[in-house]
Amino acid sequence: MKRAMAGACLAIVLAGRVIAQSDPTWRQPFDPIRIVGNVYYVGTRGLSSFLIVTPAGGILIDSGEAESVPFIRANIDRLGFRMSEIRLLLAGHAHFDHIGGHAEMQRLTGARTVAMEADRQAMETGVDRSALGAQGWAPIRIDRVVKDGDAVSLGGTTLTAHLTPGHTQGCTTWTTDVMQDGRRYHVALVCSVTVNEGVHLVGNARVPAIAEHYARAFRVLHDLRPDVFVAEHGAVFGLEAKAEKARDLEKGQPNPFVDPQGYQKFVTRSEETYLTQLRAEKK
Ligand SMILES: [Zn+2]
Repeated sequence: MKRAMAGACLAIVLAGRVIAQSDPTWRQPFDPIRIVGNVYYVGTRGLSSFLIVTPAGGILIDSGEAESVPFIRANIDRLGFRMSEIRLLLAGHAHFDHIGGHAEMQRLTGARTVAMEADRQAMETGVDRSALGAQGWAPIRIDRVVKDGDAVSLGGTTLTAHLTPGHTQGCTTWTTDVMQDGRRYHVALVCSVTVNEGVHLVGNARVPAIAEHYARAFRVLHDLRPDVFVAEHGAVFGLEAKAEKARDLEKGQPNPFVDPQGYQKFVTRSEETYLTQLRAEKK
């Protein structure tokens, strides 16, 4: 039995079958916080969800696991925003801990759901088709399918979909530009790039091209150069420490979520972890 590293989808592998195991922080509340401009964190302590507020309604990115929905809903309420104003539902990747709440969110909001082409079938059928092959979720109605480079717009905010595969085949990093206090910030909502415990990069029967997928993801991520980055688990981008700083921020002090060096370190470190595993498997 092996336990996954922190920050990844936690799973235990028992007799070759993956059984999801949730990290306790996934089901702990976390006060919503403004990341930058019109981008807000509305997830639980351990599972990210982001609300982008526009004059034409909201965009929700990631719905956590099925159990996250009441937490996300409470955070959206606390921001004074209405669930019925959410127009678009986006995802980072098709794993139960990031889209498990999608079907319920669709029911609560009536939002149009967007999926990256390579994760579409998994989302629609509720079956994890990635190399992890963990538990599924309630099937999701997909209203729009996007591919690498496509843009999704609402109320003056445009998000660009970047295919950063590996963790799942359709793992999607979303980028956007937002304004705050007269400055423009380039923001990346980064898809998971960890290799889940028990997943092999060489000779992977479920996803034969998985190593090339990750290589592509890192090439794309190296080119993004965001001012602000967030990810699908708070630990990856230092959510708790940055939120604590941001909550006591006095006027004029720099926003702790603006962290271009932190982004470069995150990409370099994640790529090194992937390359170390790849080299070890090739031996
Ligand atoms: Zn995942």
